[in-house]
Amino acid sequence: MLNIILFGPPGAGKGTQSEKIIDKYKLTHIATGDLFRKHLGEGTDLGKLAQKYMDEGNLVPDEVVIGMVDEKIKDTQSSSSGYIFDGFPRTVPQAKALDTLLEEKGEKIAGMIALDVPEEELKSRIKERGKTSGRADDQNEAKIENRIKVYKDETLPVANYYDGENKYVKVHGVGSIEEIFSKISAEIDRLK
Ligand code: AMP
Repeated sequence: MLNIILFGPPGAGKGTQSEKIIDKYKLTHIATGDLFRKHLGEGTDLGKLAQKYMDEGNLVPDEVVIGMVDEKIKDTQSSSSGYIFDGFPRTVPQAKALDTLLEEKGEKIAGMIALDVPEEELKSRIKERGKTSGRADDQNEAKIENRIKVYKDETLPVANYYDGENKYVKVHGVGSIEEIFSKISAEIDRLK
């Protein structure tokens, strides 16, 4: 199995690049934001619980996220040749829990690919996406600012965590989708 984390701030292009990675490498996509939005749309208890955090751009509590990822892995592992984690882990406890979940299956994270995009570019991309995404958290300046702050305060330490394991690599995330994808592909090929 090849298990990769695609990392980066909101608006870095993780969703866009994940789609291309899945297509090329036939990995299973686990995007916690997408999973929460699905629960929200279906009106499940989990969706209702997550909504108040998502609406403000705050993180959903770790145990909720970890439980949801655990379930998704269990549902898909028999048919999966590896995972691309997108928007997860977002805290160091989530990273440690993911390592444990994988270890129990004799698996590990091969590497973390971090998309590096300047803050002004992030804000303009999120606002642009908000015109079509319908996401409440994409359409409000204060919520966008909060998501970037939460990323810096709570999520950036996850990069140090994987850097400490020599599993961190940074990719410049500005340019055409294809240019960025070819840099990501080169890194994935090194991890295989
Ligand atoms: P995203 O689509 O990745 O930008 O996620 C949208 C929102 O879902 C975030 O602002 C959080 O409220 C929530 N969320 C997604 N993934 C996580 C996670 N790994 N940990 C905590 N909250 C998350």
